[in-house]
Amino acid sequence: MTWQIQIPFADRTESLVDVAAHARTLETDESRATVRQLVLDARLEGDRTAGDLLDRLAAMEPVERRQMLDIARVECGLEPTAEVDARERSTAATIGMAPGSGNPLLHSCSAAKCREIPRTEAGAWREVNVRRWWCEQHRHLAGEDDMRPVPLPWKLSPSGSLIPNDEADEASEAARVESRRAELAARDDESRAIAAEMADTERAMAERARRETPAGVPSP
Ligand SMILES: [Zn+2]
Repeated sequence: MTWQIQIPFADRTESLVDVAAHARTLETDESRATVRQLVLDARLEGDRTAGDLLDRLAAMEPVERRQMLDIARVECGLEPTAEVDARERSTAATIGMAPGSGNPLLHSCSAAKCREIPRTEAGAWREVNVRRWWCEQHRHLAGEDDMRPVPLPWKLSPSGSLIPNDEADEASEAARVESRRAELAARDDESRAIAAEMADTERAMAERARRETPAGVPSP
């Protein structure tokens, strides 16, 4: 899985409160929650604008950025990235998915060192639903059930991501539409809550600066 830190901003001088508010435009609950947490963390680190945060990210080593993402994920109740990666690898192994392809229907020959793949007439990688696939030359090595179809625990969504294969029924589809509607309504409330949370953070920081500034020294 490729990880990215998405910082939605319109302009570098924009305040982090606005960046947190833009988070609502992101696709998934996970990315929205993560970005809001990153922004709160950034504010506590002293960043004020989108540009401050972007510059700090740009100056980091990849491993530091990953760490920053992990901290934010854990703070909002998500698993660290390494755990998600490890689980994806083991899911791939369990359902015999070609490693790295992300598609359980793309197989390569199961014989050691053989790199043959099922191909379409045009030579492209052909999707096959089997437990383990063996090329013509190695087919004699196949176990009894290898070339039989598997009930797939996952299916591909139209956009190509893997989704659980258990929600075909209409009832759950209707429930999903309804919860999506509720979610959109909730997001407005959420934006207000974030603005309030940022305001609290601002007040706490101003208060701390005031306490830590010796008398007679003008605070910045
Ligand atoms: Zn082979």
